[in-house]
This record gives sequence, C-alpha cells and structure tokens, in this order.
Amino acid sequence: MGNIKDHKIVTLGSHTALQILKGAKEEGFETICICERGKEKPYISYGVADEIILVDKFADFFKIEQGIIDQKGIVIPHGSFVAYIGAEKVKNMEAMHYGTKGILEWESDRTKEREWLQNAKIKLPKVFESPDDIDRPVIIKFHGAHGGQGYFLANSPEEFYERYKEYQGDDDYAIQEYIVGVPVYSHYFYSRLNDELEVMGFDKRYESNADSIGRIAAKDQVDVGIRTTYTITGNVPIVLRESLLPMIFEIGQNVVDASRKLKGAEGGLFGPFCLEGIIDPQLNYYVFEISARIVAGTNPYVHGSPYTWLRYDEPMSTGRRIARDIKEAIESDNLQKVLG
Ligand code: AMP
Ligand code: AMP
Repeated sequence: MGNIKDHKIVTLGSHTALQILKGAKEEGFETICICERGKEKPYISYGVADEIILVDKFADFFKIEQGIIDQKGIVIPHGSFVAYIGAEKVKNMEAMHYGTKGILEWESDRTKEREWLQNAKIKLPKVFESPDDIDRPVIIKFHGAHGGQGYFLANSPEEFYERYKEYQGDDDYAIQEYIVGVPVYSHYFYSRLNDELEVMGFDKRYESNADSIGRIAAKDQVDVGIRTTYTITGNVPIVLRESLLPMIFEIGQNVVDASRKLKGAEGGLFGPFCLEGIIDPQLNYYVFEISARIVAGTNPYVHGSPYTWLRYDEPMSTGRRIARDIKEAIESDNLQKVLG
C-alpha cells in the first residue's frame, strides 16, 4: 500500500491555493506553495503551507520544477496555471500533475469547447460568425480578456461597429447571444476511483461593474456614460431551487461521458470541473463555458457547502475532495489513475 507521506501537494499561491492546501493538510499531506515574491503573506498567515518557494513570477515554475519532482510533489492545477504559465507549457510539465492535461486544449479553445458541450447535448448560447448577422442582444468576448475585462454588449451590427472602434486590430473575439437570466456556476467532482459524479455546490460571480450598475438609476447610467464590464472581484454562494438538481446531475454526467471521446484527452475528464451559464425565466440553463479544473467559485466553501454537507459528515471543500481522491489513489496503489 502506497503512503501519502511519500508525496507532497503543490500549487501556485493564488486563485484556490488556500483551499487546496488546507484540504490537503486535512487529509494528512504535507504541502508546498509556490508564491510570487511579495505575495506570500496569505499563505503564511493562514498556515496552509509547510513550505513556501518564492519565485519572481509564476512562469518561473520550470526553474524550480526539479525540486518538486525530487520531493514527489503532486501539482494541483487551477485558474492561475493557464493564465500565467499557459496551456501549452502546462502540458509539458514533468512533475506529477493531477488531472488529464489533454483536456486543457479542449477547454481553452473556444471551438473545441463548443464541440464538446454540443456532444454532451447541452444548451449553448447562439454564436454569430459575423457581426453583420447580429439580430438580438449579444456579448462580445475578447480571447485574451482576463476575468471578463473588456467585454462589450451590442444589439445590432451598427452598434457592434461603433463600439468595436475602440478595439480595432484585436480580431480574436467571439460574438455570443446575450442570455437574459441569472448566472449560475455549477461545481462538480467526478472521481475515476468510484466512477461517481458529485455536485459540490454553486456560485455566482461578483463582477465590477456589472454587479453595481443596478444601484444607480438608468438615467444616471446614461448621463455618466457607464459601460458594463465584468471584472471578477469575488464569488457569492448560491443554493439552487431543488427541482433543478436532476437536470444539474444529468448535464454534468453528459459532460463526463462526452469527454471520454475527446481526441488527445484519453481517459476523459476527472476531478473538479464547473459549468458556467445563465438560467432564463423558462428555467433553461444556457452554458457558455466549462472549466475543467477547480474554480474559484468553490472558495466560499472552505468548510464545505450545503451540498457536500448532505453527503459527507465532515467539512469537505473541493480542495479537500481532490486530496482525498489522491489519497485513495495512493493507498490503493492506483496513483496513475489520477495523474495525467
Ligand atoms: P488570479 O490569480 O487571481 O489572477 O486568477 C487567475 C485566473 O483565474 C484569472 O484568469 C481570473 O480571471 C480567474 N479567476 C480568479 N479569481 C476568480 C474568481 N474568484 N472567480 C472566477 N474566476 C477567477
Ligand atoms: P466569462 O468570462 O465568459 O466567464 O463571462 C464573464 C461574465 O459575462 C459572466 O459571468 C456573465 O455575467 C456574463 N456573460 C458571459 N456570457 C454571457 C452570455 N452568453 N449571456 C449573458 N451573460 C453572459
């Protein structure tokens, strides 16, 4: 039987690191946090890291990777990996990596992501190939836009071209139907060890200034010329109407099943993932994105969510659930099953 003391849990100090490292310690692992110099304070203050490795920037991960390999560290990816290291480089990581690396390509390429979700029979917002086809409210998303900064809305081709003037030259964008409804982000966990899909919780994002515009009258918005932006600043927990849960389980399972057929991602998706979408007044759930890893929307649930509380008689964050998956894999000599 493998021993968890032979391994360390490692991640970058940002995004969901507090939760991941705390969860790993709760399961009995030693932890390493790689921090950008000057940004280590939270990881020291909250006592989640047994060791802190300082780098000038996260992209320097590869300079210290050998040390991680020597300690048999298992790296837990999160949103800052792709944002600061890049999907291609993450693929070339030689340290042990939790999750299927090939999935990253399907998640970070808009066309591939859509194909995957369509195969899973999920409702998606309509996509417009050309601005000239715009016949309803749409949201224009630039690919490089970190955390929803620099998106804009339009109602017609004329409005599109007027607003687009500010972005001339940046033609890496998508035009998506704007769904009027409430945002709901669904957090899942699928373990290969027991072949079971769990619903871990839900959140909505707290975005500046989209979430503050409603605080001032429409006339003031127009007078001051305020434009909607979606810069992520935090997350708000949600409990969903219970009768929506069967649908939530069904679409999550469809996504897992469809992932087994994705080229280059052999074995399919496992571990935490999230479907991000809008529920309209007819209770249709339109999914505009999938994150094939832990999302920051699980951060309110460091001590478990109402849903994990139903299933576990102990606090179970998504970070801890990952550590438990790894622990069970090590102790049943199946570690390869959770690495990719
Ligand atoms: P950060 O390390 O905070 O810069 O985040 C890395 C990536 O994850 C960025 O692309 C962010 O947009 C995304 N991200 C960070 N925090 C959150 C959050 N609370 N909710 C959703 N996305 C987030
Ligand atoms: P994203 O960067 O794709 O996660 O989108 C940022 C924010 O834009 C989301 O949290 C939503 O508030 C909003 N949003 C994105 N796509 C749509 C859509 N198709 N319809 C309505 N709102 C959307």
